[in-house]
Amino acid sequence: MSAEIVALRGRVVVVGAGIAGLMTALELAPRPVVVLSKGPLGAEGSTLWAQGGLAAAVGAGDSPARHVADTLDAGDGLSNRAIVEQFARAAPGAVSRLARLGVRFDRAAGGGFALGLEAAHSRARIVHAGGDGAGRELMRALAAGARATPSIEILEGLEARRLIANANAVCGLLAVGPTGPVALAANRIVIATGGIGGLYEESTNPPGSFGQGVALAARAGAALADMEFVQFHPTALDCGARPAPLISEAVRGAGATLIDETGERFMANTPGAELAPRHVVARAIWRRHAEGHRVFLDARSAVGAEFAARFPIIAAACRKHGVDPAREPMPVKPAQHYHMGGVATDAEGRSSVEGLWVCGEAASTGLHGANRLGSNSLTEAAVFAAIVARSIESVSIRPPAPLGRFSAPPALDPAAVRPLLSRAAGVIRDGATLRAAVGQLAALACSAGPAADPAAVALAIVVCALRREHSIGAHCRADFPRPPAELRRSRITLNEALVEAAAIAPRHPAKRA
Ligand SMILES: Cc1cc2nc3c(=O)[nH]c(=O)nc-3n(C[C@H](O)[C@H](O)[C@H](O)COP(=O)(O)OP(=O)(O)OC[C@H]3O[C@@H](n4cnc5c(N)ncnc54)[C@H](O)[C@@H]3O)c2cc1C
Repeated sequence: MSAEIVALRGRVVVVGAGIAGLMTALELAPRPVVVLSKGPLGAEGSTLWAQGGLAAAVGAGDSPARHVADTLDAGDGLSNRAIVEQFARAAPGAVSRLARLGVRFDRAAGGGFALGLEAAHSRARIVHAGGDGAGRELMRALAAGARATPSIEILEGLEARRLIANANAVCGLLAVGPTGPVALAANRIVIATGGIGGLYEESTNPPGSFGQGVALAARAGAALADMEFVQFHPTALDCGARPAPLISEAVRGAGATLIDETGERFMANTPGAELAPRHVVARAIWRRHAEGHRVFLDARSAVGAEFAARFPIIAAACRKHGVDPAREPMPVKPAQHYHMGGVATDAEGRSSVEGLWVCGEAASTGLHGANRLGSNSLTEAAVFAAIVARSIESVSIRPPAPLGRFSAPPALDPAAVRPLLSRAAGVIRDGATLRAAVGQLAALACSAGPAADPAAVALAIVVCALRREHSIGAHCRADFPRPPAELRRSRITLNEALVEAAAIAPRHPAKRA
């Protein structure tokens, strides 16, 4: 079925309606914007599920310089310092902007922001809302703000399936909605489609977050960066549910401890103990599980009877699975949580394809390096939404090129990719397991089937993880445990990944993208 062609008369198209997409649209107002949301507004994406809040140096005794130092430490030296400094300086302003947009953050007795402490932050600097309900409150306020802004048109139920690009410049996109396929003619497009957790068997992300925007950009020729850096949250509730309910770092920040079934506090001698960087804690728990133990987060004495009042969403998730955190330790295990990699962007959020900006978790700005500092991602989305909007405003508008006739790619389904990627690119990787996944992922990526785009993203992760023959941040190679001799970010295109795949697994010949 070929697509109906819709001219947008110079409007900017934003793909995705989480914090990154909605903030970009709001920052562009009164410039006309069309926002595509594949689900109902406010009902999809990781933003809604965020618990802890936003990191910003707004407290007494804190400073952007301290926030920079903590972010660089968590990133294990791989972050882009200039981006980190730009981010940390802008973070307090981004939080104030959200408050002005109507986000009701929790307040301290004096009226300032109430601040939480999370792992690897040297100061309490997490601005939160509704206890552990930051995401709900953000989406409530941002969706209301976007709906009330006349320059923003929100197209719900419209899923972007392909970018149309010519001579390395975007000229539109193909989407599929309730009335069938449409081709939108646009030469300024923002990808804000969120994370990749739906590509893993065990993840805290909503199932619809499976890297669609990264695939759209990659198939249009955009460079990807740091794809191998996938963060596993140490403390997902070990209850067999998919997605795995998250037990926020704020619970460890409140003093909860990690124990095994014998009661041993096995992180006690690790620097930072339970509040060590996420990859350190995730690996310790992963190893404990691999040794046949079970692991629990014990909040009984640190939080006790106040648990439900302080962490109402976590308490409800625990209750649903028969656990009472006030009276018993919560069973936990690591689960995929966040993608530091994504579409490579410059300091203005521009990708390597003209007219294509990327914001939020789908972007790889260089902020997070080899591992994300908790609660930096919502702030990053808010900070970069303003930067992307200013960048878009600064470019002169070309008339959109006429679109040809296109038929829409099929609906996507990452199910075939999940076991391959989970086995190959989990908490601890090794060359043999990574290599074993390459051929099948390349064949899927080159197919016309529902797993093609998810497999293209997974292939880039696996090829980059293979290239990186050392351990750093969230990337841990059992066969290369030492740190790198030289610090460098990684960059790859889909074509490069396919060429490398053909060399690694010649029995699965892969066509170029
Ligand atoms: C359980 C959980 C707790 C978290 N807690 C925190 C926290 O406390 N602090 C923090 O900083 N970070 C937290 N994170 C991470 C943070 O929530 C995300 O990184 C952030 O919300 C991503 O925002 P986003 O706007 O980039 O994407 P999302 O919020 O995921 O939004 C993506 C949007 O894109 C749409 N979309 C996707 N594909 C398409 C398509 N093809 N066409 C049209 N629309 C599409 C989706 O429908 C959705 O509207 C948490 C994540 C999870 C899962």
